[in-house]
Amino acid sequence: MPTMAAKRDYYEVLGVKKDSSTDEIKKAYKKLALANHPDRNPGDQAAIDRFKEAAEAFEVLSESDKRARYDRFGHEGVKGAGHAGGGFQDVGDIFEMFGDLFEGFGFGGSRRRGGGPRPTQGDHLKASLTIDLRDAAKGCSREIEIKRRELCETCNGSGAKPGSTAAKCDYCNGHGQVVQSQGFFRVQTTCPACRGEGKIVRDKCADCSGSGRKVEKVRLEARIPPGVDTGMSLCLRGEGEPGLNGGPRGDLYVEINVKEHNLFERDGQDLICHVPITYSQAALGADIEVPTLLDGKKNQHIDAGTHSGEVFRIRGGGMPDPRGGRAGDLLVEVYIEVPRKMSDEQRELLLKLAELEQANVSQHRESFFDKVKDWFTGENS
Ligand SMILES: [Zn+2]
Ligand SMILES: [Zn+2]
Repeated sequence: MPTMAAKRDYYEVLGVKKDSSTDEIKKAYKKLALANHPDRNPGDQAAIDRFKEAAEAFEVLSESDKRARYDRFGHEGVKGAGHAGGGFQDVGDIFEMFGDLFEGFGFGGSRRRGGGPRPTQGDHLKASLTIDLRDAAKGCSREIEIKRRELCETCNGSGAKPGSTAAKCDYCNGHGQVVQSQGFFRVQTTCPACRGEGKIVRDKCADCSGSGRKVEKVRLEARIPPGVDTGMSLCLRGEGEPGLNGGPRGDLYVEINVKEHNLFERDGQDLICHVPITYSQAALGADIEVPTLLDGKKNQHIDAGTHSGEVFRIRGGGMPDPRGGRAGDLLVEVYIEVPRKMSDEQRELLLKLAELEQANVSQHRESFFDKVKDWFTGENS
């Protein structure tokens, strides 16, 4: 059983002055923690010890209360306070306390390693897939290719050169666990030297450089349910990376991106289609043909006196609900198209219409012109 060495001065551990600011202390700790991070120094016991020592020093010096007690009474003053009493037993505790400091460095800040060679689920993976709107509405199946780590076949995932075996870890005597005394208690934690594996690879497998894993390309089929939208993720259970110590594989999350369509705009599960109508259709009413995404063309009646921007709803003509609920609607938004070119006959008819409009002003326009007149004469500002 390893014994604890006498504690070093916390300021010395972090390499800061007695009157350093909290910011300076934080900076110094971060630098040390990153350099000695277990993910960067796998199996390096000295680094793990420095990592723990720095965390303990930081825990005390970053809190003014504890720091003041430490300044007055030394290590005795902070004995039993939080983790600092017995020192950090498990690097997992450090991630839990100070994990946010490691964010953005690509380390598993909150990942906990503990409890011996216990089964751990493999990492989750992400992939993305772009489909068009029609396929999103119908649902579809796509083949995707991803890269993921698989167990190395040469060493069967052990990391040891074929013919050699991994040596028993001296630190924990192959148990993967160490027991340390903490006051009256005896606490069992993951062996920091072998990270709970119970063994240490000395003769590394050449195919995987001792990691036991190899990156491989895998083709998978993704079945996309009808109605998906951009930003939704599909979970392919068990298609992530292999687990450790017999743990389950991670999952693969496929993020869906739905391409924009030139006729249909999406609003949640509804689809919007902008349909041009003529002035006479708007004024007289008409039956027009509108496109749908999946059912070809549909007839839609336009009432006499329809305005530009009016919306007709075709129930169920939108996107299906991927969760099995009611489908969205197709919203037909009409707009009156004003011709840029016209025949002589059209022109004559419009001139005639214009004459009639001068003679017979609609109520709506009349009230508008009244308001304009009032505005200019200042009667109603
Ligand atoms: Zn290998
Ligand atoms: Zn060990």
